[in-house]
Amino acid sequence: MNELENFTNTTFRLDGRVAIVTGGASGLGAYYTKALLSSGASVLVVSRSKKGWETIQDFATAGKYLVAFYQQDITADGSAQAIAERAVAEYGTIDILVNNAGIQIRNEWQDFKDADWRKVIDVNLNAAYYLSHAVAEVMTEHDGGKIINIGSMQSFLPGKYIFPYAAAKHGIVGLTKAYAEALAPHNIQVNALAPGYIDTLMTKALQEDPVRSVEILDHIPAGHWAQPQELMGTLVFLASAASNYVTGITVPVDGGYLLR
Ligand code: NDP
Repeated sequence: MNELENFTNTTFRLDGRVAIVTGGASGLGAYYTKALLSSGASVLVVSRSKKGWETIQDFATAGKYLVAFYQQDITADGSAQAIAERAVAEYGTIDILVNNAGIQIRNEWQDFKDADWRKVIDVNLNAAYYLSHAVAEVMTEHDGGKIINIGSMQSFLPGKYIFPYAAAKHGIVGLTKAYAEALAPHNIQVNALAPGYIDTLMTKALQEDPVRSVEILDHIPAGHWAQPQELMGTLVFLASAASNYVTGITVPVDGGYLLR
C-alpha cells in the first residue's frame, strides 16, 4: 500500500524481486524473462531442455542481471516442490511466478488420443496448479507476491482441433480466479495474460496458410499480428506494485481480436 502513495514510473520496477518463469528461455517465455530481468528482477528459468539458455545468459550478462536455470519437466512428480526449493536456494525467496510453459497438439476430435489429452492438460493446467501451490507457500511466508498465468484466445473461444488446449486455457481462467480469491488475504495477486495472435514459430504455419491468415487478420482491429515484445509491458505491469489492486482477471493482449 505505502509504495503506491507516491506513484511514479518506478512503481513498475522489480528491483530485488525474485521471479520464476516456466518455459522462460525460448518462445514467448524468453520475452517475459527479458522483461523481468530488465525491470530489475532476478529470474529462475525452468525448462525441459536447455534450448535458449545461452541467449538468455548472454542477455543477463550484458545487462548485469541475475539469471539461473533449472532443467525440469514441470509435469514430473514432485517437480513443483523441487522448483520452489531451487528458487529459494538460489535467491532466498520467490516474489513472482509466471506459469508460461505450454504445448499444443492438433487433431480432429475423432482422432484425439487419450494420452494427448492428458499430456496437454498436464503441462498447460495441472503444472500451473501445482507450481502455484508450492510457490504460494513461500510467498505467504513474506505476505506478498504475484502469480501470472498464461492463457490464450482459447481462454475465451473454442478450438475444434485443439480440444485439450482450449479446455486447459479456459481452465487457466478459473484457476486464476480461484487462487486470486484464496490468496488475496496474503497480498498475493493472481492474474492471467492472454496473448492474441503472435508472430512466433508456433504460429508460422497459420501465418503461411493463405485462407486462415487472411481470416485472422480480418478479425484483428489493430490490423496486424503482434510481435512478442508487445506482451512485455502487460507482463511487467502484472508483476509489479502498479497492479497491487488487480487480481483474478485475465487480460487479453490481442489488438482487439475478442471485440469482433
Ligand atoms: P514454445 O513451444 O515456443 O515454448 C514453450 C516453452 O515451454 C519451452 O521453453 C518449453 O521448454 C517449455 N515446456 C514445454 N513443456 C514443458 C515441460 N513439460 N516442462 C518444462 N518446460 C516445458 O511456446 P510459446 O512460447 O509459443 O508459448 C508459450 C505460452 O504462451 C504457452 O502457454 C502458449 O499456450 C501460450 N500462447 C502462445 C501463443 C503463440 O502465438 N505462440 C499465443 C497464445 C498463447 P523445452 O523447449 O525445453 O521443452
